[in-house]
Amino acid sequence: MLFAMPTKQNEMLATIEAEYRETAYLTRRSEPHPRVLQALADVPRRDFVPPNVKHLAYANSPLPIGSGQTISQPYIVALMTDLLNPQPEQRILEIGTGCGYQTAILAKLAGKVFSIEILDTLAERAALNLANYHNVELRCDDGYIGWPQAAPFDGIIVTAAASHVPEPLRQQLKIGGRLVIPVGLPNLHQELLLIERLDATEFKTESILGVVFVPLIRKHKSREENNTYDCDTDATGRGKEPNP
Ligand code: SAH
Repeated sequence: MLFAMPTKQNEMLATIEAEYRETAYLTRRSEPHPRVLQALADVPRRDFVPPNVKHLAYANSPLPIGSGQTISQPYIVALMTDLLNPQPEQRILEIGTGCGYQTAILAKLAGKVFSIEILDTLAERAALNLANYHNVELRCDDGYIGWPQAAPFDGIIVTAAASHVPEPLRQQLKIGGRLVIPVGLPNLHQELLLIERLDATEFKTESILGVVFVPLIRKHKSREENNTYDCDTDATGRGKEPNP
């Protein structure tokens, strides 16, 4: 896609397209869907990052958003959105609202977006950032258990790394629904998985790319129990980089 103005945002989009081409041998996807690219063009990333990193808003890299967390790298946001393939009539669940940037992209593409953030300070900031997105519902809670009252969902996206695929999330998918989730070792290496629900019991799993995400935090479990982090723990934010 050609972008008329050489703005920083357009440069970011061109960089995302270049990274798609470079990683196509792993992801089997050589370009972002035009709808996804348009959503990235419509949502100013600058509006979602904290003041101290505004000057880096359009860099193709993760950025700190406070509380040890990060806003994802734009290429990863594009790729995960593409894998989820949200459609205008669909209901989407996001785990890990963070600053709300990925939520806003989803809100442009889907009918309704439900998003859960476990940390109060980030949930509150996301609510402010997303005030003008009227098809978004936010909740501050442990997203591991999903959002049973709003289920089932056409798509579920998890933007923090889990040690395993949370069973409640699989069960809250519609038949034909898609779950996009990084699974692996917290803070070290995860595989970005695309899981499709084929019927009541069958799921198809595709491994897309090696990635590094901040860990999925659990509210009421110890670190040993779930191989992730307690809510009170100061989870150390790590950048989200493709790690092929
Ligand atoms: N999509 C966000 C990514 C933020 S990083 C963005 O682009 O800004 C991952 C987020 O997941 C962090 O905000 C972290 O606090 C949140 N998180 C971690 N474990 C969670 C859990 N169990 N439930 C909900 N959110 C969680």
